[in-house]
Amino acid sequence: MATYSITPIPAFNDNYIWLIHDTQHAWAVDPGEALPVLHYLNHHQLTLAGILLTHHHADHCGGVATLRQHYPSLTVIGSPKDPLPPLTRAVQEGDTLLLAPLDLTVTVIEVPGHTLGHVAYFGDQCLFCGDTLFAGGCGRVFEGTAEQMWHSLDKLNQLPASTRIYCAHEYTESNLTFAIRVEPDNPDLQQRLQQVRAARSQHQITLPSLLAWERQTNPFLRLHEPTILHHLEEWIGHPLSTDPAQRFSVLRQWKNLC
Ligand code: ZN
Ligand code: FE
Repeated sequence: MATYSITPIPAFNDNYIWLIHDTQHAWAVDPGEALPVLHYLNHHQLTLAGILLTHHHADHCGGVATLRQHYPSLTVIGSPKDPLPPLTRAVQEGDTLLLAPLDLTVTVIEVPGHTLGHVAYFGDQCLFCGDTLFAGGCGRVFEGTAEQMWHSLDKLNQLPASTRIYCAHEYTESNLTFAIRVEPDNPDLQQRLQQVRAARSQHQITLPSLLAWERQTNPFLRLHEPTILHHLEEWIGHPLSTDPAQRFSVLRQWKNLC
């Protein structure tokens, strides 16, 4: 049984800062803001031991400097391939990290596309994937190529179906609303959209997701489906090759315009 908990701390409009903690210590994933983290730590009498960063955007690392002022011996982990705040440990693909003193070890997975140095952290069936894989969708391709982003998503899709997805934004409802245009006849998707709409109307969080659900409902992981291919070809106006990266690129362009 896990001896730690994972708590979402809402930040900005739709970010979640994930706090991994026991009754004394905590690690924060992507603290874009310091204040909500400091409030939570104070209120629950927790000490911040470390920070995991997935990528360099301000809504993910903007709170690091202030948190470091409060906790000078803080461990700060991220990829040297992204322009992050100063790190105490630079990591790369395959590195394993014990989030001491918590009882959790995670492995680093490089997932370029949204940014060139984007990484995800995976351990104990939990995936912290920042802005790469979202519930019902995926991040925008800002720095890499569509091909890179597709490979990154495909890499995450190799993890066990039981993997819980702790992504960084509450985008699930708008993602699934788009997904149903691309695959209107998918009953799992219809059902999930209903559940997510009900949850959001009560201001409830829709995360973590489960990789099994993503395989059933996330169009970016379902590019092989004939219905999706049909809708993509209809939208772009010409036939597409069997190359999944090309299909991904068309689907991402379509989503960008919605
Ligand atoms: Zn981002
Ligand atoms: Fe973000």
